[in-house]
Amino acid sequence: MYLGGIEAGGTKFVCAVGDESGNVLAKERIATKDPDYTMDRVIHFFKNFQIDSLGIASFGPIDLDPESAAYGSITSTPKPGWANYPFVGTMKDALHLPVGFTTDVNGAALGELYHGAAKGLDGCLYLTVGTGIGAGLVNRNQLFQGLSHPEMGHILVRRSPKDHFEGICPYHKDCLEGVASGPALKARWGKSASELPADHEAWQMEADYLAQALMQYILIVSPKRIIIGGGVMKQKQLFPMIRRNVQELLAGYIDFPEVRGGIDSYIVPPELGDNSGITGALILAKRVYKAQHESRV
Ligand code: ADP
Ligand code: ZN
Repeated sequence: MYLGGIEAGGTKFVCAVGDESGNVLAKERIATKDPDYTMDRVIHFFKNFQIDSLGIASFGPIDLDPESAAYGSITSTPKPGWANYPFVGTMKDALHLPVGFTTDVNGAALGELYHGAAKGLDGCLYLTVGTGIGAGLVNRNQLFQGLSHPEMGHILVRRSPKDHFEGICPYHKDCLEGVASGPALKARWGKSASELPADHEAWQMEADYLAQALMQYILIVSPKRIIIGGGVMKQKQLFPMIRRNVQELLAGYIDFPEVRGGIDSYIVPPELGDNSGITGALILAKRVYKAQHESRV
């Protein structure tokens, strides 16, 4: 059995073909331009293989409501040509196979759960801190879904009294993404996040905002492990600062070893590096194949 996976991002699409055991047999990166350019190449890539199902982990927001006429489409993105783009429909029309669809961060959470930093558990939360901020959640092996997928990057945080930056979220100004994403750091401090020195005051503030977010995720969904990836987290000094701040904020209220002595293995970087999302997309392909097969027997 061959499985197809797509990790669809704002700068590139990663397409992969894998087998049931998770081995990747072929992989290609395609630039995210307009849908005609990108999707022609994506479809061409998969037509070279006899895949049995496809999993897509996509940038969003996306429509995941099976009852909705727009199920399987990207919804309100500012990326030219991609708003209301019927992603799942296009792939089904081209390849005639079952297609699984979820967010990029849900894909990363699945990948890390099965093959990375949360292996052996039945759930985890994957947070990315990059161009945007977002999180995916797997609980009891299921991707979490309500009305739609969660949007955990747009929560409000208590602002530092020293921080008068107005925030850059086009919807909420100073939500978490508006004050703590890579572009927010650049707008506040006047230089790219990757150029700020490791001892810059930016990082204490960043750790404070991210720890507040983690506190809320822990209190609301009680994740089994928290994995934090994305470009900004290449600043490895953030990890110990975030862990300490989370402990201080929770103040002993959540009395689990994970949050006390075990916090170094509770709040962790990804193990799959840049491959979390595409690995998750292939797992989704396997799940959708199995679901369809089982419904026939
Ligand atoms: P995306 O979110 O677009 O998928 P990334 O996760 O790589 O991509 O995030 C890109 C953001 O991460 C940019 O805003 C960039 O400034 C920031 N970034 C990349 N490398 C570093 C670094 N070493 N330190 C801090 N920030 C970084
Ligand atoms: Zn926002």
